[in-house]
Amino acid sequence: MINVAIDGPAGAGKSSIAKAAAKELGFIYVDTGALYRTIALNAVRNNVIDSTEGIVKMLENTDVKLGFKDGTQCVYLNGEDVSDLIRTPEISMGASKVSAIPEVRAFLLDLQRNIAKENNVIMDGRDIGTVVLPDAQCKIFLFASAECRAKRRYKELIEKGENVTYENVLDDVNKRDYQDSHREIAPLKPTDESVMADTTSLNLQESVDYVINIIREKM
Ligand code: C5P
Repeated sequence: MINVAIDGPAGAGKSSIAKAAAKELGFIYVDTGALYRTIALNAVRNNVIDSTEGIVKMLENTDVKLGFKDGTQCVYLNGEDVSDLIRTPEISMGASKVSAIPEVRAFLLDLQRNIAKENNVIMDGRDIGTVVLPDAQCKIFLFASAECRAKRRYKELIEKGENVTYENVLDDVNKRDYQDSHREIAPLKPTDESVMADTTSLNLQESVDYVINIIREKM
């Protein structure tokens, strides 16, 4: 199986780029952030988002599964399709919080590895090249300036009708960058083999072409 790991900070365009590249190459696209978001949603619903102990205990009654409908990933929480419910700023911050808990990361590890064992995948996240798929044939670290990433995310949220300001989105991007790269377990960082891909000055199609070229070179 061919495994491509794409890591990078929030808003670097990982999911749009990886999704389009996977389609073109005929691979499955796996968005691992959705898994952490689903744990966060369950924690919010159970009123334990501020308690590590509560979150760890909650895992005993948490079932997370990934499905693929027409190539698009869906995520199920205890059988319910929560794919849309996990895309809010509250759940973004919650995901960053729960993802720093070692038990949560261990809970989601096999699920991610099993999909990659059975399929050609492009998997995106923060620790795919370092922890989840250390043997991936291709590792890409995708990044862009914080301002550029905040602008993209702001536009996305406004288009979805969310009531946000650019300043708040930039603030969230910086906060999440800090949390994700300073946590003790599986912090966001490139590996020695990662190809560093800066998308600040590229549009979506240029970024997709860039990433596909990197993957083809490694294949
Ligand atoms: O990629 P996305 O923004 O959906 O991820 C939400 C949060 O989940 C991230 O801020 C990060 O804290 C966490 N995450 C992670 N490891 C991954 C994917 C996401 O810690 N592989």
